[in-house]
Amino acid sequence: MGIAEGRVALVTGANRGLGFETTRQLLAKGLRVVLAARDEGALERAHRRLADPDRLRAMTVQMDVTSVESITAALRRVTDLVGSVDVLVNNAAVLLAENDDVLSISAEAYRRTFETNVLGVIEASRAFVPAMARAGYGRVVNVSSGAGQLATMSSYAPAYSISKTAVNAFTRILADTYRAQGVLVNAVDPGWVRTDMGGPSAPRSPQQGADTIVWLATLPDGGPSGGFFRERRAIDW
Ligand code: NAP
Repeated sequence: MGIAEGRVALVTGANRGLGFETTRQLLAKGLRVVLAARDEGALERAHRRLADPDRLRAMTVQMDVTSVESITAALRRVTDLVGSVDVLVNNAAVLLAENDDVLSISAEAYRRTFETNVLGVIEASRAFVPAMARAGYGRVVNVSSGAGQLATMSSYAPAYSISKTAVNAFTRILADTYRAQGVLVNAVDPGWVRTDMGGPSAPRSPQQGADTIVWLATLPDGGPSGGFFRERRAIDW
């Protein structure tokens, strides 16, 4: 067991894909994990898929990241269940209109993308980060994407890519804001991973994709903050 043992992590979009695998790996490291997802049924099914006895350290909370009311209710429930959260993994996201060009994507697709991928990350952070700062310990992992990397930006998936660039900017700003209070905030590109979003042809397994997320979620004190990482290495923005 490592230094993060006993800490409480909350993972958004924990019912499937990278969120579920991140949950599994955090539990294996001895953390307690709150699985957050918007669909109660999917949440319960995910909870049942966890291995014994890790499941005993896992809790579930309904949370739609596009709804401030839902996030506020989740915060109340988490506070009742575990007090406060030490680690927030902002994983939930959507990939919409992947093949449309930048000026063809509907306003609705842009709006839904930014609501989930950007405002969802900001609002979940607004709910859970202040208590971390008060406690003097926190880890925030924003699951970004190589698609949001300005250094290599292409015409691929414009709404999604722009949303992830915004997540990267938010990561820098949040990291700088809470630097003195022990809250380490980083963005991660998990690579192209075999999930519903990544599809079956992706070269990386969910286990490989979650590795850097989990590493950042369990950084020791004095670890990096305000960085963008792939395979545990800092990459260009
Ligand atoms: P996924 O399999 O499509 O899972 C997405 C998760 O986000 C699901 O749990 C989904 O819940 C949840 N979600 C979507 N909207 C939500 C909302 N409004 N409130 C709460 N949860 C919501 O995707 P994934 O591949 O695991 O992706 C996880 C993260 O990795 C995302 O941030 C993604 O952008 C990033 N990423 C993935 C890849 C890849 O190749 N897979 C590459 C780079 C970055 P439902 O089941 O309810 O829809």
